[in-house]
Amino acid sequence: MRYDITRDYIDKGNSRPGTANNTIRFIVSHDTGNAGSTAYGNRNYFNNVQPSASAHTFIDDRYILEIIPLDEVAYHVRNNVSTDNRRYGADANNAAIGVELCWGGNINFNESYKRYVWYHAYLLDRFGLDPDEDIVAHSTLDPERRTDPQNALRRYGISWNQFLADVKETYQTIFVNGQEMDEEQPAVKGVSVELPLREGDRGQFVREVQQDLIRAGFALPRYGADGVFGEETETAVMRFQRRYGLVVDGLVGQNTLSKLNEVLGASQPKNEFPLPTGILRQGDEGTEVRQVQRALQQINFNPGAIDGIYGPNTEDAVRRFQSTYAALANDGIYGPNTRKYIQMELVDQG
Ligand SMILES: [Zn+2]
Repeated sequence: MRYDITRDYIDKGNSRPGTANNTIRFIVSHDTGNAGSTAYGNRNYFNNVQPSASAHTFIDDRYILEIIPLDEVAYHVRNNVSTDNRRYGADANNAAIGVELCWGGNINFNESYKRYVWYHAYLLDRFGLDPDEDIVAHSTLDPERRTDPQNALRRYGISWNQFLADVKETYQTIFVNGQEMDEEQPAVKGVSVELPLREGDRGQFVREVQQDLIRAGFALPRYGADGVFGEETETAVMRFQRRYGLVVDGLVGQNTLSKLNEVLGASQPKNEFPLPTGILRQGDEGTEVRQVQRALQQINFNPGAIDGIYGPNTEDAVRRFQSTYAALANDGIYGPNTRKYIQMELVDQG
């Protein structure tokens, strides 16, 4: 084995329900969405805070860290998305391993990326999965809310297809052919894509940037997303840069890529679970109670029936939620503080 896997499991709780999963059918690739947060930083967060969301494995430049046993459920994709069921006939939380890439801050991305690629190949081998079919991005399963792991990969000039190609090559070389990884010519080539992209570049990553420009409203009427960085693309990049206050140089580097992600992310609907701003308690009824119940169910604090009645079950769910945060009074009453933390988990989830 080329890399060590560290198994340091978090305590059972909301993040680790401790229930067995089904046969593993696929892998869901994530990034933490949080620049600079390390594998152990994430482990400590999930162990201490125990939000109702998690993933099996966090990978940075030092650790491949499994925080939940691979034969147990982790909540890394919202239950109510149906893309996983359509594609794999199963719910990701029951039938997929969730893998998180750590990046940014002081993390050496090259090292982090190599481990991330290697670990995907390891999972393909361990669970007998198909490299062409059984790896899926979180953003593919939940496109309205998620941009990972492309959001992280693209900051470093790696397209999703390049990542898949790197995994496949590593899988083939190391796990199928049994060869040693060659330090001089590493199987991982993705990081060799050079930023910034500029006029004259071509390839899959150029095509993806072009698609993003078009989605962001900067049309390429003549050539479209053809994978060739020509004058039309350069002009569109400069228009984009001017619009968003970036240096207008027609080069696509990290700043332009992050801003593109931000712009595309910001245009997506986020508030699927509106939360009332007032105070609600046992005995209250109505639409606002129903909103709270839906949100609690979404973050896996089952409030019983979604009936708009704040009865004992709803109160109990609120109390169980509050007990996971030291900052919250454990009173079963929904108010501004509880709202803030529920909101946070809705955003965090996955
Ligand atoms: Zn994710």
